Amino acid sequence: MATIINGKDIANDFCRTIGEKVDELKAQKVFPCIALVNASSDPASEIYVLKKSKLAESLGIKSTIYKLGDNVSSDKIADLLQNLNKDDTVHAILLQSPLANGLNFRKLVDLIAPEKDVDGLTTINQGRLFTGEPHVAPCTPSGVLHLILTVLENLSGLHAVVLGRSSIVGKPMAQLLLNENCTVTMLHSKSQNITEICRTADIIVSAIGKSKYITKDFVKPGAIVIDVGINRLEIDGKKKIVGDVDFDAVSEIASAISPVPNGVGPMTVAYLMHNTTHLATKK
Ligand code: NAP
Repeated sequence: MATIINGKDIANDFCRTIGEKVDELKAQKVFPCIALVNASSDPASEIYVLKKSKLAESLGIKSTIYKLGDNVSSDKIADLLQNLNKDDTVHAILLQSPLANGLNFRKLVDLIAPEKDVDGLTTINQGRLFTGEPHVAPCTPSGVLHLILTVLENLSGLHAVVLGRSSIVGKPMAQLLLNENCTVTMLHSKSQNITEICRTADIIVSAIGKSKYITKDFVKPGAIVIDVGINRLEIDGKKKIVGDVDFDAVSEIASAISPVPNGVGPMTVAYLMHNTTHLATKK
């Protein structure tokens, strides 16, 4: 049976060190502050933003939620982001995705100053990640790498397969694994022979958003499997969140596996706090 990689416990341990960093900053009269901009009324986004704010406050990081709703114009978001860029008391800015319909995420996120881009999603930070210049790494892939390193310290030479190629998860994930000297294969909806390719992987990271997509047939015995997917299902009238991986079956053959919930999710939020303290330190 696989080791269960408990993201909640690992995130709690990590947050303790972040809390210590916050204390150090405050002793130097630096008061870390994150602005959380939510331009949608999607209920899941509202819950995520609230969770992020609560964790920030519990670690001593100031957080302000800007709840803009569904009908906000692109110009109004742009004005807010530009004002936050100029505000010296704000160290980190998050533009929660998805945005309300009709708003262009890429155009708006690129208005965030790279030195306040807490999720490393501006074109400048993503470019720096790919060229190896100092950068802010996106939170979800950073959290995934952290989880993998808790079960295996040296990833050099291993074959890692990343399913999904978004700018938020898949692409930066592949780059972070490449930086660890993995041989990386990226798979997407047009890929062929997905099952066969996955079966050659030492590490599988799935970020596609399809429940139970990764079955036992995709997994080489002993592989590490990290499930990024979040899929909301209704089973017997009850709402349930599941990942992309058929957890019960895959945990019989993998060496380590992260569950959903309590896998990658808590690490994403923890890295948001880590990046906030990092950005506050650099000021
Ligand atoms: P996204 O932008 O929708 O991208 C999904 C990716 O999956 C695309 O690259 C798509 O390929 C690929 N894909 C879809 N079906 C596939 C298939 N059958 N086989 C192979 N690849 C397939 O999603 P995202 O923002 O990257 O998020 C991915 C998942 O992770 C979602 O479930 C999301 O909710 C979850 N997520 C979780 C966290 C967390 O903190 N736990 C954070 C972010 C996202 P194409 O490019 O060809 O369309």
